[in-house]
Amino acid sequence: MWTAHKFGPVQVWQSDRLAEGGGHNVALHVGDHPARVHTYRQALRRQLPQEPLWLHQVHGSRCVYAPNALYHEAADAAWSDHTCQPLAVMTADCLAVALWSERSVAVAHAGWRGLVAGVLEQTLAAMGGATQAWLSPCIGRECFEVGQEVLDAAVASDPGAESAFRPLGGGQYWADLPALAVRRLQAMHVEVINPRPPCTLCDPQRWYSHRGSGGRAGRLATLIWRDLIF
Ligand SMILES: [Zn+2]
Repeated sequence: MWTAHKFGPVQVWQSDRLAEGGGHNVALHVGDHPARVHTYRQALRRQLPQEPLWLHQVHGSRCVYAPNALYHEAADAAWSDHTCQPLAVMTADCLAVALWSERSVAVAHAGWRGLVAGVLEQTLAAMGGATQAWLSPCIGRECFEVGQEVLDAAVASDPGAESAFRPLGGGQYWADLPALAVRRLQAMHVEVINPRPPCTLCDPQRWYSHRGSGGRAGRLATLIWRDLIF
């Protein structure tokens, strides 16, 4: 099902996997039956003002301008200053960040690789800044075990990022993915509406989790668009 969050004219929709028949995977690349994915995408489309812009996500930092973007273009973020144009990002443990200002909306796929590659900075530069952000469900700080290389990469691009890691011993850490994103957003003067989103790994009935499923998870979707206000 979908949960709609409204912030004035801005709509942020989050999917989960609570569906009759156990469906609600939006991704075509995860081994699910294509007809089933298309049926679900069509049911979604009927509730939206336009077909969403789906990206071919590559854990990078590129942000495309949605009115000029190709369907399934290789990018990890999209922005738009048009009304009624839903932008979509798919995740399963990674974080999706929905961003908006008075005139623009954007959504970014922000796992740790995207964060250290600068996907949030690229997106904010492209859209001309944002005032607020909403964070999707993602793997939580009690569940996201990472190696030294993740801490090193995070600190290299954000010197204070060490505060988002707790040592586990043996060169392993618990990483706080939302906190890594919040640090970067606050540095760019963006207010985060929900800095503690739910953990995907902790609630496998509700969310898809890449780590919780041995890499065979479906994908959740996060959508944002601005409604036309008369
Ligand atoms: Zn958890």
